[in-house]
Amino acid sequence: MRVLMVAPPGAGKGTQAAVISAHFNIPHIASGELLRDHVARRTELGAAVKEHLDRGELVPDSVIMAMIRDALTAAKAAGGGYVLDGVPRTMAQAKATYLIARELGMTADVALHLTASDDELLRRLQARALVEHRSDDTEDVIRHRLRLYYEVTHPIVAWYRRRGILVTVDAMRPAKDVAHEVIAALEAKQAEPRAEDPAPDDGWGLDLSGP
Ligand code: AMP
Repeated sequence: MRVLMVAPPGAGKGTQAAVISAHFNIPHIASGELLRDHVARRTELGAAVKEHLDRGELVPDSVIMAMIRDALTAAKAAGGGYVLDGVPRTMAQAKATYLIARELGMTADVALHLTASDDELLRRLQARALVEHRSDDTEDVIRHRLRLYYEVTHPIVAWYRRRGILVTVDAMRPAKDVAHEVIAALEAKQAEPRAEDPAPDDGWGLDLSGP
């Protein structure tokens, strides 16, 4: 099972990705966690991205895609499944992820889109700020991350819908209920014939040259 996740901050991406990873026994690749780990270990990459994280800005695509190529290569060696949490965040990342996955023979079976209202997302992120003390869970930064999500990340959903791999789940309910629906929806999708991969240079269906 190969899953990409597209969801606003606070929708429970990390929680649901962990459930999917355990259920299908596939690696959980979380870009935000990988980046926070670099910051905590004070690596060169960590120093380069710390400000982006603190401000809720997106890290440059080149940094993300190098990380994802390594992670997908490792996932291939581990059996070929994966759940990708936090990537893609931009059209350029969506396209690059597709090209890397295609080259490795492991394009996504499902793009899982989690939805929730802004009020609920704000409430959850503010609650998380009290517990996790993430540097990017302050009110201003939260609002900025939500805005960025709707401007540059959410448009990707249309592309996955066109490709026939989109699965949308309402994430407004308790995590356990959402997890049930997510697993059922992924298993149903797995039982369907798989949509064909589009050719990389032909019929992307959308202009992916944007931000
Ligand atoms: P997350 O843990 O997914 O909420 O990500 C936390 C932060 O890491 C984001 O606000 C960005 O600063 C950075 N980040 C994570 N994934 C990406 C990505 N795919 N592209 C750019 N920045 C990212």
